[in-house]
Amino acid sequence: MKRPSIGVRLTLWYLAFFALAQLVFGVGMWVILRHNLYDLVDDDLEAQVDDLKNFLQSQPKDRSIAKIQEEVTETYAIEHSGDYLAVYAENNQPIYRSAFLEAHASALEPPDQVERPTMRSRKIDGRLFRFVLQKMDANGHVYTVQMGIPADDVVETLHLFRLYLLMFAPVLLLVAAGGGYWLSRRALAPVDALVRTARQVSGTNLNSRLQKLETGDELQRLSDTLNEMLDRIESAFLRITQFTADASHELRTPVSLIRTEAELALRRSRGEAEYKESLRHILLEAERTTALIEQLLSMARADSGRETLHLEPVDLSQTLRGVVDGWRQVATIRNLQFSASLAAPDVSVMGDETLLRRLADILLDNAFKYTSSPGSVYLSLETKGDSAVIMVQDSGAGIADEEQGKIFERFYRVDRARSREQGGAGLGLAIAQWIVTQHGGWIEVESQLGHGATFRVELPMIAAPVRNPQPA
Ligand code: ADP
Repeated sequence: MKRPSIGVRLTLWYLAFFALAQLVFGVGMWVILRHNLYDLVDDDLEAQVDDLKNFLQSQPKDRSIAKIQEEVTETYAIEHSGDYLAVYAENNQPIYRSAFLEAHASALEPPDQVERPTMRSRKIDGRLFRFVLQKMDANGHVYTVQMGIPADDVVETLHLFRLYLLMFAPVLLLVAAGGGYWLSRRALAPVDALVRTARQVSGTNLNSRLQKLETGDELQRLSDTLNEMLDRIESAFLRITQFTADASHELRTPVSLIRTEAELALRRSRGEAEYKESLRHILLEAERTTALIEQLLSMARADSGRETLHLEPVDLSQTLRGVVDGWRQVATIRNLQFSASLAAPDVSVMGDETLLRRLADILLDNAFKYTSSPGSVYLSLETKGDSAVIMVQDSGAGIADEEQGKIFERFYRVDRARSREQGGAGLGLAIAQWIVTQHGGWIEVESQLGHGATFRVELPMIAAPVRNPQPA
């Protein structure tokens, strides 16, 4: 079942609370009113009892009960106050008993059971009465008095009060429901505005933003937060779009070179040497393309968080020694001096050995690529405090100050044509920086145009692993 909207739910809750409050108020008022009305009737009754007492007290002391009986009857039989009165002498002998109480004697406790003054409400013949039953000392006699008063007015007033309450309650509830709905609509109107604008945001207009609210409340915070989220999504989206465009562009060049080379070779018959030369070119481009695709895949995996690191204690001197050995031959072929200083003992980091090798390869590859013969490349490993410091220094072309901040960006190459010639797509340093960051370190470059470049990597060290534990 579809859940009703927040507006409707708020209205229903509001209505439920309002109805409950109305009920509590109505019942409370009814109880208070009833109590006060009974108080008024009781006051009236007490005043009449006082009158009776005064009357009995005014009887001379030596007057006989029979005479008193006569006096009481004479006074009260003609008055309405005597309509619901019964007075008994000490031996419960009736001095005066109205016809009404005579007829309904069973409605009240008999006089011999009356002790302390008590108030009683009784419904007799469909009418409500309030009675007081009490003993009364007057001029040496103890009388028992039962005196009543009709409380029809109380019943009538309470009945009317209840009627008005029941009549007005639905009207009030209706007004409350209308008011509640209006209030909730008003409070939620900005949400509707947000929903409308949010619906219009799509991949093609990620730059549009939700309506800026100035309500200074939770809804403004919500729209601001969503807009900040859109900012982040937009920049991530732009990065991906840019990456895809750059990657396609980079891939197009080697593929079209391969195609051109093949087309040229096929245009007319050639000698074996020429074909071999063409195939060598094609092979070279294919190798470059493979390397580029490797780099692209690695970046894409890093972006998607799927490039998982296999962290383990890595002995950096040993790892770098392996890397250096691989580059010695390249140095010889390129006629460059290559030296390494890896003497620092026990330099261990928690890392992924394959990625750390790759990091060193990228830095050395650049150093060899951008240094022409005669020149030198130098790699060193040192420690500084708790960090391992890897340095790759070359005596090559160097990097201008203004370029140094950009070379770590993806696809950024200082000299596009030259880099391409040397096989670079501008991804090496971006990958290197990602590797360093994943290892909790940082990378920087120091260089002067024409005076070589030095890349410095700092990685946090761990205590060296015990390599050959001695038997105890
Ligand atoms: P590429 O694959 O083109 O080498 P990188 O991301 O590794 O891409 O490097 C980016 C750019 O930084 C290079 O195109 C080059 O211009 C410059 N660069 C990197 N290393 C060096 C270096 N050792 N000496 C001079 N320039 C360098």
